[in-house]
Amino acid sequence: MQAISVQQPWAFAIARGGKTVSNQEMPTAYRGPLLVHASMRVDLGACDSPLIQAAGWNPRDPLATLGAVIAVARLDDVCSAAVNGDPCDCGPWADPSSHHWRLADIRALPRPIVALGRPGLWQPQPTLIADVELMTASSSTHRPS
Ligand SMILES: [Zn+2]
Repeated sequence: MQAISVQQPWAFAIARGGKTVSNQEMPTAYRGPLLVHASMRVDLGACDSPLIQAAGWNPRDPLATLGAVIAVARLDDVCSAAVNGDPCDCGPWADPSSHHWRLADIRALPRPIVALGRPGLWQPQPTLIADVELMTASSSTHRPS
């Protein structure tokens, strides 16, 4: 299990808005489960962007918080076509000057879990992983089968 810190409102767009590409400066060889952490910094200019508005950005949503894990996902692939000047099929969220970390199985947490993040990919504390697993396990029991 690894984690990645993402600025709001982009983190919200991943958790709630169907954003399946995270634009990163660096590629990674890691594949597997990933915690999506909303960092303490906000990309203020992005909050009014059409993409973010279309993703249902709502500053009053609990998952619009800062400094907390808000979703779990799986890192399936990293697309570096754009940084090499090649086209790709990563969709409207993909930035032309970034590596595209492609996420699958994104599940928003029922409520945020406060945690310190750091830039790039980081290793979550075992207690944080346990909190997330407890919350995702209990929320799935309430889901209608
Ligand atoms: Zn791509």
